[in-house]
Amino acid sequence: MRPIGVTCSLRGDDCCLRMAYLRALNNVGLAAVVLPPQSLSAGKIAALADGLGGLLLAGGVDPHPLLWGEEPCPGLGAVDAARDAWELALLKAALACNLPILGICRGMQLINVYFGGTLWQDLADKPAALLHNQTAPPDVGWHSVTLAAPFSDILGNSSVVVNSLHHQGVRVLGAGLKAGAYAADGLIEAFSAPKQAFCLGVQWHPEHLPEQQALWQALATAAAKR
Ligand code: MN
Repeated sequence: MRPIGVTCSLRGDDCCLRMAYLRALNNVGLAAVVLPPQSLSAGKIAALADGLGGLLLAGGVDPHPLLWGEEPCPGLGAVDAARDAWELALLKAALACNLPILGICRGMQLINVYFGGTLWQDLADKPAALLHNQTAPPDVGWHSVTLAAPFSDILGNSSVVVNSLHHQGVRVLGAGLKAGAYAADGLIEAFSAPKQAFCLGVQWHPEHLPEQQALWQALATAAAKR
């Protein structure tokens, strides 16, 4: 099976990626290759994507609000315009070849922006928001989400408890995306792109939740069909 390409963050001139992502992929038999930002033509990026079994857009800093036409507001965190551009180009190439795609946290938010959606720059601005930046370790469930297809099918339940390690969230869902999980405050916590073979975004971090292995298994099943 072809490997899953995993995006990462940069600290200075170093690439950084939490190993939990790679362990989660390895646990379902998937190999990973890490894809830091690179200066490549669209053709080279298309060829790179075509050689993968899937694309995992990992968590990280905030997408830049200029991407959806907003100026930076108080509450915006760190941004990385070079990573934004790289991941959006990879995503475009991955969608074009119907590559299985999973976006986690920032990765989900970036998919939403790609599809024309917008984000809360800081959920402190959202009326009556839950506390989404949990004060417990990441392997601890924090808030419940109600699930719709395909997440209810994949996870075999209509409601699960997830971790919550984010201060931004989907404000307007992008065109062509379908909400698949909601927090109690109405925030969209997961979506799918039904026109794609497999394109899912989750706001939580399944790489820290052993009970979410079925989500990784679904990615492996989709990658096996490549
Ligand atoms: Mn949350």
